[in-house]
Amino acid sequence: MASAFARIAFTPKVRAAQTRMGSRDGYRQLETGEDEVAALGPMEIEFIAERDSLYQATVGESGWPYVQHRGGPPGFLKVLDERTIGYADFSGNRQYLSVGNLAGDDRVSLFLMDYAQQRRLKLWGRARLVDESLEPELIARLESPGYRARVERGVVIHVEAFDWNCPKHITPRYTKAQVDELLRSARPQTQPTPAAAPIGSGALALTVTGIRQMTPRIRAYELRPADWGSLPQAAAGAHLNIPVQLADGRLATRQYSLASHPSRRDIYEIAVLREDDGRGGSEAIHANWAIGTRLNVAPPLNQFSLHDDARPAVLIAGGIGITPIKAMAQALQARGTPFMLHYTARRPEEMAYRDRLAIEFPQQLRLYFSRVAGLARMDVDALVRSAAEDAVFYVCGPATLIGAVASSARQLGIAPERVQFESFS
Ligand SMILES: Cc1cc2nc3c(=O)[nH]c(=O)nc-3n(C[C@H](O)[C@H](O)[C@H](O)COP(=O)(O)OP(=O)(O)OC[C@H]3O[C@@H](n4cnc5c(N)ncnc54)[C@H](O)[C@@H]3O)c2cc1C
Repeated sequence: MASAFARIAFTPKVRAAQTRMGSRDGYRQLETGEDEVAALGPMEIEFIAERDSLYQATVGESGWPYVQHRGGPPGFLKVLDERTIGYADFSGNRQYLSVGNLAGDDRVSLFLMDYAQQRRLKLWGRARLVDESLEPELIARLESPGYRARVERGVVIHVEAFDWNCPKHITPRYTKAQVDELLRSARPQTQPTPAAAPIGSGALALTVTGIRQMTPRIRAYELRPADWGSLPQAAAGAHLNIPVQLADGRLATRQYSLASHPSRRDIYEIAVLREDDGRGGSEAIHANWAIGTRLNVAPPLNQFSLHDDARPAVLIAGGIGITPIKAMAQALQARGTPFMLHYTARRPEEMAYRDRLAIEFPQQLRLYFSRVAGLARMDVDALVRSAAEDAVFYVCGPATLIGAVASSARQLGIAPERVQFESFS
């Protein structure tokens, strides 16, 4: 399909420059086939909804471009439909450069930046100015409730093309809100004092002896026997039933897979994703556990065990589902069983154990990202198809990932016994 972006941006002189610099062959394929009708998809719509600023270029009568910065609360740029976006124009320095330029030429080029995630989206379109007295309902759709700035007009843009850029050379920068959120999750939310009395009534007495912030929402906890003795052996795939004191004082139980190397008898490590809209178990752990917190837990259980013969394994993890999968990879490596480790998450910075896995399993690890344009996305079907004929699959992650693997395996006639999974919900 001939990309709308290439149609607009690859002018004869641009093509000549690509030829001169040796990139023409790679880009030529963007110009073949039927003309694409640019329509914003879920990824673009979500990205636009998170932006709090944009850069907009217009063309003046002199032929000079003019770039204007526009900002507002996150989501101030609205997606009206898959081909139309718009924003409320607040009063500024009253030079009216863009307004004047648009009166002569309606073409705009927009740059939307996400510095923190090193992503950017370029859009081309045709803009029209909206007068509140003539189209009050449209202006109302463009306004951001609660944002105290006077709206002078609306700008509605018919999108003609868009393109994602690669993350190269974007220096990560963070807004105050993002820094506050990072600090909030890095800092204990209350002043935790290690509980004087242990939590829970299990036979195994453990103490929290280490806490590591692995991603903004995932913390790893190192648990040692209270007497610094030896822990029960826990094979890869095992989990602990952890007693948790909820905010209202009730005692609840949550399961956490052991992410530590299965051969270790001195510590267990669990990694807990803070669920902000859950029933409060993971939030309570993040808020209250400190070095010295004591727990009485039952010995580990295992409902997600590895096969014990020499067949190769395909390990598939989505998000926090990496915890048992990491231990499985370490067990397979230790016993010399061939395996591949496929790990997907939304973004690199949300991936627990990413660097560690890359060092331990440079040959076996494949990483995928679902929310970063330009980086590989997991193709479950291709992955299942390319596995060895007798491979055993182990999947842990969101229900959609588990469902996709199960469905691909079913279609390929893979025996259910060869597809093992654990769901966290
Ligand atoms: C065997 C096993 C191993 C596990 N291992 C890990 C691990 O290694 N790391 C880890 O972080 N977690 C793990 N879990 C999940 C963990 O046990 C908890 O479920 C998790 O920490 C969330 O607990 P919570 O009380 O904070 O939230 P929960 O209330 O349990 O919420 C979990 C999710 O469900 C949604 N939800 C809750 N209530 C509702 C509702 N009424 N309607 C719709 N959605 C709802 C929430 O939005 C949230 O996304 C594991 C679970 C199992 C079963």
